[in-house]
Amino acid sequence: KKYVYLFNEGNAEMTGLLGGKGSGLAEMSNIGLNVPPGFTITTEACIDFLNSGDFPEGMWDQTLEKLHEIEKRTGKKYGGENPLLVSVRSGAPISMPGMMDTILNVGLNDSTLVSLIKATGNERFALDSYRRLIQMFGDVVFGIDKSYFEDIIRSVKVERNKKDDVDLDASDLRVIIEKFKELYIKNGKVFPLEPLDQLRISVEAVFRSWNSERAKVYRELNGIQDNLGTAVSIVSMVFGNMGNDSATGVAFTRDPNTGKKGIFAEYLTNAQGEDVVAGIRTPKEIEDLRNEIPSAYDELIRSASTLEKHYKDMQDIEFTVEKGIFYFLQTRTGKRSAKASIKIATDMAIEGLITREEALMRITPRILDTLLHPQIKRNGKEVKLGKGLAASPGAAVGMIVFTSEKAVEFAKEKKKCILVRPETTADDVRGMSVSEGFLTQKGGMTSHAAVVARAMGKPAVVGAETLNVNLKEESLTVGNITLREGDIVTVDGTSGEFYMGSVDLEVSKITEEALTLLEWADKIRKLGVRANANTPEEAIIARENGAEGIGLARTERMFLGGDRITIMRSMIMSNSLPERLKYLDLLLPMQIHDFVEFFRTMEGYPVIIRLLDPPLHEFLPNKEEIMNEMFSLKLKLTKSSDNFEIDSSIARLTDLNRIFQTIKNLEEFNPMLGFRGCRLGLIYPEIYEMQVRAIITAAKRVTEEGKTIYPEIMIPLVGVDNELRIIRERLEKVAKEVSGKEKVPYKFGTMIEIPRACLTADKIAKEADFFSFGTNDLTQMTFGYSRDDAEGKFMAAYIGEGILPYDPFTTVDEEGVGELMKMAVKKGKATKKTLEVGICGEQGGDPQTVEFCNRIGLDYVSASPLRIPIARLSAARSAI
Ligand code: ADP
Ligand code: MG
Ligand code: MG
Repeated sequence: KKYVYLFNEGNAEMTGLLGGKGSGLAEMSNIGLNVPPGFTITTEACIDFLNSGDFPEGMWDQTLEKLHEIEKRTGKKYGGENPLLVSVRSGAPISMPGMMDTILNVGLNDSTLVSLIKATGNERFALDSYRRLIQMFGDVVFGIDKSYFEDIIRSVKVERNKKDDVDLDASDLRVIIEKFKELYIKNGKVFPLEPLDQLRISVEAVFRSWNSERAKVYRELNGIQDNLGTAVSIVSMVFGNMGNDSATGVAFTRDPNTGKKGIFAEYLTNAQGEDVVAGIRTPKEIEDLRNEIPSAYDELIRSASTLEKHYKDMQDIEFTVEKGIFYFLQTRTGKRSAKASIKIATDMAIEGLITREEALMRITPRILDTLLHPQIKRNGKEVKLGKGLAASPGAAVGMIVFTSEKAVEFAKEKKKCILVRPETTADDVRGMSVSEGFLTQKGGMTSHAAVVARAMGKPAVVGAETLNVNLKEESLTVGNITLREGDIVTVDGTSGEFYMGSVDLEVSKITEEALTLLEWADKIRKLGVRANANTPEEAIIARENGAEGIGLARTERMFLGGDRITIMRSMIMSNSLPERLKYLDLLLPMQIHDFVEFFRTMEGYPVIIRLLDPPLHEFLPNKEEIMNEMFSLKLKLTKSSDNFEIDSSIARLTDLNRIFQTIKNLEEFNPMLGFRGCRLGLIYPEIYEMQVRAIITAAKRVTEEGKTIYPEIMIPLVGVDNELRIIRERLEKVAKEVSGKEKVPYKFGTMIEIPRACLTADKIAKEADFFSFGTNDLTQMTFGYSRDDAEGKFMAAYIGEGILPYDPFTTVDEEGVGELMKMAVKKGKATKKTLEVGICGEQGGDPQTVEFCNRIGLDYVSASPLRIPIARLSAARSAI
């Protein structure tokens, strides 16, 4: 069986057998780059060795045979006169940087040292190479701690008054080598002098390093299988430590941080191997190389472009220059920042190295996500308080508040705040919606705070265990620092860190390259992308981010705030239809005004407006508050003797009593399943009629301004076709009456958010021009979970224990909810070919869900304004 491959016998496809390093070396030598001769022992041999404790049959013979071949190619002899030295290098099929071992200069002993000095005429270099071998061998093979060797070097430097490693001369190095050998003896070990023993023992040690503790931990953390094994590459040594025309370094073919085109390199002259990474001296940059070793510079530039053309991606290479000659020692796909990955992919597509589709497939939505949020601009002076889980990306600065109410209060005063809680619950959502970001002491990546933060697109750090939030005292402590309400903190949901005071933020504008990439995405995707936006301001952001319409505009907020809530409450408490109509008439002009503004900003695009959805009691004041006020008024009455005060108290009490009765009447056992959505629309038709009147009036007005708009009226929570039929009949009448002769191209449709609606979608489609999946409610009702209870109580455990693979409120549950959606699309479109189908649940901005929606034939997805770019990219990727 073949266990050993010369570089020219392998290629890039053989990473499984030759490891990343081995196959890279093979591929580079195949395309004519200057790689020192060498060969690779396969991962199969490694697995065999680890199982049996012995090299597999034939492996060692094949190794010696290839070694002989290398001797021929280099004209040197292993253990001989003009001594061949080799490196013995680990290299797994999947990159595990720094986890396993490599030994350089194998083949040196006291006698080949003399030959090497003779052959090169460079005593210092030969001694430097020897001491490195003894040092690495001791560390890798015998586990003698590195620090002991470094201590010896340091002590000799002090003794002999030398500053840097390069200042050590031959006699210094001889002393060091002697002391190294003594160190072996102190540890009960002997440095093997026989070159072939060195080679064999090194190969064994590298094989074994696959099972080192740190390698195992790394694999576990990164989900890499344990049975892959490492290959061993044996590479004839080239020397960067032969003087000032020699060097060693690493280079990226483009800047890994910015993505800028052009080589990004760091190197050291007169150095070997890992000196650059180890930070022994400050490395020089590419421009210095141009001056110091021009031949090497030219070769690096030329071959970097060869490599990129070949691999069609940015490469991360290791090189060594020996007396002006450039050698490649490693290549791999370079790691890069989010920003760089977008620039590189876009540039490469423009350069014609890759196609636009390939460029899009290289940018995962996660990369885009990190770019779209404000980031911390570190300056080294920030005071870090601690670290929790990076639950929702971006950074925010604000004053600490400990309650939802305080957050709302602060927001009214236009103060920015960060909501700090032990953990959040549904009760905190109001406060969360006005806070800049959140910080919690408990909870995981799927905790309420984390989920809500991601949905809102706000930064969150959760589960910061070192934090102690004391609600009673309204304080938070970390170590000996205590902060109180109003104190400023900065949270960074990208890294999970949080800081005292205000740290500068950088709002990364979407880069030009990202815009180009998104334009390409728009040409390729088949899914439309709309936004969920409740206000004209949100609609503007949505348009800027590329939304092609509004998939969901909720109308609830049009009943809140200022006068409106008072009118709304009076409407709710009305005893008769005429009374209700009176209040609705007051609301009408306000809503017309809102819709006009909305339509203007969305000129040319469809806008789906959802009619009132929540149960009416959500618009009433809090029951406890009313009871408290009633109580104190009664108390006042018993004490007061002032007639005027008594009268006004009684009047107020009567009022409160009425409110209290209404609240009690509207109270529900389960509001989620209660009197809401189209059920309200059926029992109180006048509410929806007022809304439709407002929509069509506004539409007419904006049309008269010469703007084209496409209002789509959405009726929520339909489960029975009759619901929609009856409501639509009534509302059509109003719409026709209002629009008159004017042509307003309105549509009526429904939200599909109840399982029964999916099952009977064929019937419902008869009454609807469009469907929009409300996957939040659809998920709640399909699973029978109340979302807030699930997120707050058991979702994390469910995912942790593998009962659910992921949170179905973040990514659509394909197996269950998704199956219902598929059925609804099929049945709906069978009834009405022109039926327009989309999704407006929060999952609509999730890449995996977008892919699913594309697969089942939706016409568009609708996502929150900040997630629009991600949805565009995801839609394109799923179309490729
Ligand atoms: P790692 O995987 O930790 O980077 P490597 O096997 O790549 O380990 O080697 C460590 C260092 O030694 C690298 O800087 C590499 O370029 C250098 N090196 C390896 N083999 C040789 C060789 N034959 N000649 C010169 N330098 C070498
Ligand atoms: Mg390397
Ligand atoms: Mg709903």
